[in-house]
Amino acid sequence: MDYMQLPLSGLEAPLNEMEQMIQDNVHHFALNVMRPAGVELDRLSADEAVAPGSPLWKVLEKANELGLSMTAMAELPPLDRVKLFAIASEELAWGDAGLAGSILVNHFPVIYSMLAGNMEMVHYCEGKLGCWGITESEHGSDMLDANAAVASPAGSYGRPSCVARIVGDKIIVNGQKAAWISGAVTAEVCALYCHLEEGGKTRPGVALIVPLDLPGVSRGKPLDKIGFRGMNQGELYFDNVEVPMANLLAGPDTYQDFVYRTLCEANPHVAATSVGIARAAFEHALEYAHHRKQGGVAIIQHTGMRLRLFEMFRKVEAARALTRRVMAFNTTAPRPSLLASAAAKVTATQAAFEVASEAVQIFGGNGVTREYPVEKLFRDARSSMIADGLNEILGMKGGSDLINPDWL
Ligand SMILES: Cc1cc2nc3c(=O)[nH]c(=O)nc-3n(C[C@H](O)[C@H](O)[C@H](O)COP(=O)(O)OP(=O)(O)OC[C@H]3O[C@@H](n4cnc5c(N)ncnc54)[C@H](O)[C@@H]3O)c2cc1C
Repeated sequence: MDYMQLPLSGLEAPLNEMEQMIQDNVHHFALNVMRPAGVELDRLSADEAVAPGSPLWKVLEKANELGLSMTAMAELPPLDRVKLFAIASEELAWGDAGLAGSILVNHFPVIYSMLAGNMEMVHYCEGKLGCWGITESEHGSDMLDANAAVASPAGSYGRPSCVARIVGDKIIVNGQKAAWISGAVTAEVCALYCHLEEGGKTRPGVALIVPLDLPGVSRGKPLDKIGFRGMNQGELYFDNVEVPMANLLAGPDTYQDFVYRTLCEANPHVAATSVGIARAAFEHALEYAHHRKQGGVAIIQHTGMRLRLFEMFRKVEAARALTRRVMAFNTTAPRPSLLASAAAKVTATQAAFEVASEAVQIFGGNGVTREYPVEKLFRDARSSMIADGLNEILGMKGGSDLINPDWL
């Protein structure tokens, strides 16, 4: 027998010293802090999960000690930076996808300020709990499809739920964002993307940093949902909120391109976390198949089981490989590609869903009980196919980049 003990990153070439150190630290944190906290949070009500004393706060505090600061990462050469991102995101989600999401969304205002080249906002947001508010209860896919690449030509957008007006040197925000804004209940700053109102008409749009302690900001109740229960989600309400012009990340002339580039940035992060979910599900199934006996032998001794585990392994590896390839491509390309980032997000979230579903099946009846870890992974994997843009919408948008006008 040629048993092969693979490192955490599977078939990846050996990591360098710094990558190995980060992977070891984050893995230790994921195993010892995130996994137990994630299970606890999964069983709390949405209100309890954000209340003082909830395990969430300890995780966020300890996550800071990992030293994964965005501005420090920005100093690294681009290929080194994205590889570290991929390694860290996978390990965090291997620990708990909801908590990994909580940690990641806190950095979105910094990341999107960097994307806009607004260093004042980068420094302002660094170290603060953050969120990204783009979708609205009446406009989910519509908001992510800012350039209307997949919208029906027969449709009319209707009234946006959240609008900004530019008055002198201030941006005035009114309205509300959807109940799915990740981290909204705990965030101190929001990277807000909304329509612009001018002369009674609205159009896409503006992106700006909104400090959430400004007068006129309020929040909804934390959302009760099936997956990612360690990550709070909720509405944000704006009542004549006055934001300084210095907080602007993109105005109407660059907004559509900014949303495109935001998706190119955000989608591979979701992909990397989905690789972590898939790997966790695969590992649980592999171990269970060694311990569970049927027909007098461990179920892995049945050749059919080996094929099923092989299929899971193959999907984890393929998802990781594409995710890292896309991150490397997009960070070095003159313009990042949504075709690429959507391919990574769709492939990795689909892989996580299929692998987690198969893990539930391999656990048999135990798979659907809350005493075993795989049903939670299945719920987390399901949510990932909706978060950050529904997979089919991203696929249609990414697919638009395949149209060669010269061949039409
Ligand atoms: C775990 C999670 C985390 C999230 N985090 C955030 C966050 O941090 N910030 C944020 O702003 N939002 C967030 N969201 C919201 C998420 O981005 C939206 O739920 C998603 O974009 C879909 O929007 P919707 O729910 O309104 O669905 P809808 O857009 O109403 O879609 C409903 C159905 O209609 C179909 N459909 C819609 N438009 C078209 C079209 N043009 N052509 C064909 N079919 C179409 C869709 O494919 C879908 O099946 C999160 C959601 C989840 C589940």
